[in-house]
Amino acid sequence: MARPGNKIIQAKLVLLGDMGTGKTSLVLRFIKGQFYDHQEPTIGAAFFTQILSLTEATVKFDIWDTAGQERYHSLAPMYYRGAAAAVVVYDISSTDTFNRAKKWVQELHRQGNQNLVMALVGNKSDLNSHREVEAEEAEQFAQESGMFYMETSAKTAQNINELFYEIAKRLARIS
Ligand code: GDP
Ligand code: MG
Repeated sequence: MARPGNKIIQAKLVLLGDMGTGKTSLVLRFIKGQFYDHQEPTIGAAFFTQILSLTEATVKFDIWDTAGQERYHSLAPMYYRGAAAAVVVYDISSTDTFNRAKKWVQELHRQGNQNLVMALVGNKSDLNSHREVEAEEAEQFAQESGMFYMETSAKTAQNINELFYEIAKRLARIS
């Protein structure tokens, strides 16, 4: 519940990244606290809301997940429109998805929203024994791109809440 005097921030958050990197799984882990092993890659255009209460603010997230349009390597402008936060996801066990994440970041930058809170997420951290992308490389790319970096696992829940709390904190700071 919002306390009196506690500001309320409504924030559209969009997920980007290649198909199969775990975008839908991340959201479902965050919202429902569950992991679905044989997730259909596309379960329709998805829209979720979730509220996070910080001491400094209450953040109401409107989370936009793709419906598989990322297959075509671009998303419609309305997907980005009005977004306050963006999460670009790759799979730490696939260099291809990391290279594609760089393209998604370029596309984000083209949207020209200076205040956008941006996170680079290396998902599937549970697949560390199959790692193809070093954390240092991703961290460096994130820094150069004005993003923060985090590794998550939708499977084990590692860093999932932390990711959304970090975004909420950053939104509270700039609003
Ligand atoms: P999306 O296409 O980016 O939305 O990816 P999905 O959420 O549909 O996930 C694609 C596949 O990766 C599914 O089989 C998921 O079960 C699996 N997956 C998602 N997140 C993780 C994770 O953190 N670890 C592992 N091992 N598999 C994951
Ligand atoms: Mg999906």
